[in-house]
Amino acid sequence: MAEHESLEFGKADFVLLDSVSLEEFMANLKLRFEKGRIYTYIGEVVVSVNPYRAMNIYGRDTIEQYKGRELYERPPHLFAIADAAYKAMKRRNKDTCIVISGESGAGKTEASKYIMQYIAAITNPGQRAEVERVKNMLLKSNCVLEAFGNAKTNRNDNSSRFGKYMDINFDFKGDPIGGHINNYLLEKSRVIFQQEGERSFHSFYQVCVCSSINDGADFKAVADAMKVIGFTPDEIQTVYKVLATILHLGNLTFGVDGDTTLIENSKVVAVIGVLLATKEENVGKALLYRTVATGRDVIDKQHTTQEASYGRDALAKAMYERMFCWIVGRINDVIEVKNYDAKVHGKNTVIGVLDIYGFEIFQNNSFEQFCINYCNEKLQQLFIQLVLRQEQEEYQREGIPWKHIDYFNNQIIVDLVELQHKGIFSVLDEACMTVGKVTDEVFLQGLNSKLAKHAHYTSRKLSPTDKSLEFDRDFRIRHYAGDVVYSVVGFIDKNKDTLFQDFKRLLYNSSNPVLKMMWPEGKLSITEVTKRPLTAATLFKNSMIALVENLACKEPYYVRCIKPNDVKSPLLFEYERCRHQVEYLGLLENVRVRRAGFANRQEYPRFLQRYKMISEFTWPNHDLPSDKEAVKRLVQGCGFEHDVAYGKTKVFVRTPRTLFCLEEQRDEMV
Ligand code: ADP
Ligand code: MG
Repeated sequence: MAEHESLEFGKADFVLLDSVSLEEFMANLKLRFEKGRIYTYIGEVVVSVNPYRAMNIYGRDTIEQYKGRELYERPPHLFAIADAAYKAMKRRNKDTCIVISGESGAGKTEASKYIMQYIAAITNPGQRAEVERVKNMLLKSNCVLEAFGNAKTNRNDNSSRFGKYMDINFDFKGDPIGGHINNYLLEKSRVIFQQEGERSFHSFYQVCVCSSINDGADFKAVADAMKVIGFTPDEIQTVYKVLATILHLGNLTFGVDGDTTLIENSKVVAVIGVLLATKEENVGKALLYRTVATGRDVIDKQHTTQEASYGRDALAKAMYERMFCWIVGRINDVIEVKNYDAKVHGKNTVIGVLDIYGFEIFQNNSFEQFCINYCNEKLQQLFIQLVLRQEQEEYQREGIPWKHIDYFNNQIIVDLVELQHKGIFSVLDEACMTVGKVTDEVFLQGLNSKLAKHAHYTSRKLSPTDKSLEFDRDFRIRHYAGDVVYSVVGFIDKNKDTLFQDFKRLLYNSSNPVLKMMWPEGKLSITEVTKRPLTAATLFKNSMIALVENLACKEPYYVRCIKPNDVKSPLLFEYERCRHQVEYLGLLENVRVRRAGFANRQEYPRFLQRYKMISEFTWPNHDLPSDKEAVKRLVQGCGFEHDVAYGKTKVFVRTPRTLFCLEEQRDEMV
């Protein structure tokens, strides 16, 4: 029905399963994957399984097949969802968003790119130059952001190490007129440390042109894309200089001579001085001393080698992160909506596309994983609220009675992390505010004393026999997607995220104006700096809350990505692995909700158009007062009265079987 192909490819929509059980769900998913059908619906949600091979389903001809069609008229596809989001926006003047979720390597970023390509392809039939410019910028920005924000990991050769939310703005004609990118928590620790088998961000290899993946060719593509977007030659040069500086910082080592901390390879300092357009001695000083204000006096305090190394690493990370944010900002300058007068042209509407890191469980999980998994809890909470809410609202709007369905509600885990005063982030921030030496262990004790009773929190101290936890290092969260053991090591440092002021002033005082612009706070002198900067956890929490608020006021469309195996194989469907994802993504509950309500709903004219040939009352035309009356007549004639409800604008069909029958009868006629 949803798809004009035989059942040998399985059910195109999981709501059509004969019964909703995990086994049936999995059997259908597996069958479809093996038959090369990587997309399947749950109503309006697309479930996608990474094919790990080039699929011939994204070309111009396919785009044409989906353009302007209804979801169930064509085989499941990302394009259909993109089209649905686009249509909803255009027809009903609504802001929509497409939320793409799934674990690392599941295919989120690829999906987001296909969606953007589709939107670019179906818009601007009039070929307006300004719109073409905007579309080109939006597409080109991907290439630049991937170079600086993606890296090879053990899970994905092109893993996004930042979260990305992109708004595309449309004018009253439905053509893109601009956009805006929000980026979230770049995994900057990757600049100084990578797990075995992983790499730093692509950009470093591209400037060195030294490595395995297509780094050389990519370098040119990125440089071209930056030029097209409008980065000036000076800006592009500065980006390379920052990358080079970070590479040189990586070679810098510290030693001691008596009481003096010194730099062992001072030539490197000279090189960095040139790259940063500042005096060599200033670089050396910033690396070895920090200026501290004691009352009215300002003194230079020498670092220990340990402090100096910490400072060096913090500088490398901060320079990279700051540059990344600056690049995003520059792209935003270019793509932001200009000269749009809503009074003249009507509301400018938005489609948002969210491609953000999926749930992560590693061998060793640290602060970054904690943030990432919290983000996924937030998004799961949103999914629960919206999928339910959307259903309920539609029934209400259409005047149809609705009975509530229960889900596992993960709000309790969201609270565990983010609640004021009680949540893990609060405990962490409190520990960081403590004067004097705070250790990660102190933080863990804080957690244990505050959260001992929480059903989703455990530590070794609380369950001493639990071998999976180390006594004074680990805690475990029972996430909606599974248990994750976090090591507290590094939480305090990563949360404080200290960068000595001296570095900020060093960079601000560079005679390279581009670099200077990236570090405006370096303008403040030591005595002027008073405010304690917000912690990394607080910044992240605030950005997540803002993101969720933003998504919640849009009409959401979902793509749920599944990773079929860990070896990037196009053939392997690892059953257990997939089952686990299906479970934690809540897909079965999704099917149940969808089925408990009505499996299908269509506006009266659409419904008639599709099925009118099966009833004498409606074929070829009806003489009833309205399409609604005609649909009632048609349905009565077929004997499906009991399975159908009539809303204000739509007919609701409860069980898939009824639609099957309608489809079959239709097939006999045409
Ligand atoms: P994620 O963003 O979820 O971590 P990606 O979108 O980067 O994952 O996908 C990982 C890899 O899987 C891609 O580099 C590509 O090789 C492959 N892949 C993902 N989606 C598709 C697709 N639709 N067709 C072909 N290959 C895909
Ligand atoms: Mg990605």
